[in-house]
Amino acid sequence: MFSFQSIPAYHQQLKNKITTCTDVVEHYLNEINKNVHLNAFVEVYQTEALQKAKELDEKRKAGEPIKLLHGVVIAIKDVICYKGHRVTAASRILNNFHSLYTATALQHLIDEDAIIIGNCNCDEFAMGSSNENSAYGKVLNAKDNTRVPGGSSGGSAVAAQAGLCMLSLGSDTGGSVRQPADFCGIIGLKPSYGQLSRYGLLAYASSFDQIGIFGKNIDDVALLLEIMSKPDEKDSTMFAKPATGLYPIKNQKEKKYRFCYFPQAFGHASIDKEISEKIKTLANNLKANGHTVDEIDFDLIDLIVPSYYVLTTAEASSNLSRYDGVRYGHQSEIQPTNLEEFYRNNRTEGFGIEVKRRIMLGTFVLSTGYYDAYYSKAQKIRTMLVNKMETIFANYDAILLPNSPETAFEFGKSVKDPIAVYLADIYTVLANLTGVPGISLPLFSHSNNMPFGLQVLTKRGNELTLLGISKHLLENYSKENPN
Ligand code: GLN
Repeated sequence: MFSFQSIPAYHQQLKNKITTCTDVVEHYLNEINKNVHLNAFVEVYQTEALQKAKELDEKRKAGEPIKLLHGVVIAIKDVICYKGHRVTAASRILNNFHSLYTATALQHLIDEDAIIIGNCNCDEFAMGSSNENSAYGKVLNAKDNTRVPGGSSGGSAVAAQAGLCMLSLGSDTGGSVRQPADFCGIIGLKPSYGQLSRYGLLAYASSFDQIGIFGKNIDDVALLLEIMSKPDEKDSTMFAKPATGLYPIKNQKEKKYRFCYFPQAFGHASIDKEISEKIKTLANNLKANGHTVDEIDFDLIDLIVPSYYVLTTAEASSNLSRYDGVRYGHQSEIQPTNLEEFYRNNRTEGFGIEVKRRIMLGTFVLSTGYYDAYYSKAQKIRTMLVNKMETIFANYDAILLPNSPETAFEFGKSVKDPIAVYLADIYTVLANLTGVPGISLPLFSHSNNMPFGLQVLTKRGNELTLLGISKHLLENYSKENPN
C-alpha cells in the first residue's frame, strides 16, 4: 500500500518504479471513498485526476525529466478558481457556478505537473471557525468525529490530516489555515500578505485574504510556497520579487533565534491552562538551549478581535455585493414585483445566516454617522498594531503564540454562541491585521487526546526565517507530540 512521506521520497519511489502516479491517484480516490463520512470534499475530479496520472506515467516512460510537483496530489478549498470546475464558496448563492479562469497560485502548481484531486468543503465565503457554516454540511475531524475540524478551511485541513491527498490549499483571512491545522494536528502556513497572488481567490476581506498551505512535511510546504510565490500583474498588492531560497529549508542546527511572547496572550482569561503551560514549557526549553526568549508587553490584545471584525465585515459587505443573481448565481423562483425585491429574494435565499450577519454588521460600521466610530477607529488600531509589530521585529526573529484558546471543540458551539467563537480568533487575526506570515506547527498533544500547535510569526516578507524556525522546532521539539 502507498504511504506518503514527502515529495522527494515519492519521486524516488516513482524513479525506482515502486509505484506509479496512476496507482497513487487510485490510492487517494480509494481513501476519499472510504472516508466520505468526513465530508471533506465538495467534488472529486476522479476521471481527470486519473487521466493526468496516466499522462505523467507515460511522460516518465518516454524519459522526459520530471517537474517539481510531478504527480503530487493536491486538494483545493472551494474558494479557489479552477477553470471549468465548480467553485461555490460553500454557498447556495454560487450553486452551479463554474470558474472562468484559474487562480494564478493554483496555475503555478498545475504548471509543475501537480494533480488536483478535488475541491474541499469550507465555511461559507470562508466565514467561520468550525466549518459548520457550509451549504454542504459539517466536516468531521478525523481524529475525533464528534469534534469540529476548525474553519474556515476545515475540508482542506481534514483532506491532508486523513491522508486523502498529499497537501492542500486553504485560505486565511483571520486564521482559517492556522486554526484548522491546530485542531487537526498538521502544519498550516499563512504567507505574508502580498506573498501569493489573490487573483482567482474568491474575496472575503481583500486586505486580509491569503491562500495558505496544509501539509505534514515542512519542506513540502516550503516547496509549494516557493513555486506559488511569483509576482502577478493581476494582483497589485503582491510583492514585486519572487521568493527564492525557501526550498529546501536550510537546517541551521547551531543557530540561536531571538523569540518573544506576550504575557497577555498566555495569561488571557479565555485560554485553556494546559495549552498555555505546554507552550510556556517549550519556551523555557528554548531558553535553556541558548535561544533568547523574552516577555514583551502587548496591551493592545483585547482590541485585536473587535478591529478585525469591524474591518473584515466592512470589506465583506462590499465584496459580497456582487452576488445579486443577475448575471450568475442563485435566482429565486419567487416572482419579484420590482428590482429591489429581485435582489432581496436572491440574496435572502442564497446566503446563510453567518454571511448575512456579517454583511449587516459591515454595512452598519460603514454607514454615515457610524463610520468614524467604528471603521475609522478600527483602521487606527490596525496602524497601531502594524507599528507595534515593526518595533518587535526590529529586535526579535519571531513571536510565539497559541493558535486558539482551546483544542477542537464539539459541534454546536458556534451556533449557540457566535460571539464566543469570534473571540476565540484572538491569537490568529493579528497576523492578518498586520500582514505578517504565520504558521501552526503540530508540536503538542492535550490530555483530552486532541492535538494542538504552536503559532510562530515573523516579519512581513520573511518566510525564510519562518520556515527555518519551523524546521528547527519540528526537528528538535516534537518529542512531546505523538501524532
Ligand atoms: N474565524 C475567522 C472568521 O470567521 C477566520 C476566517 C478566515 O480566516 N477565513 O472570520
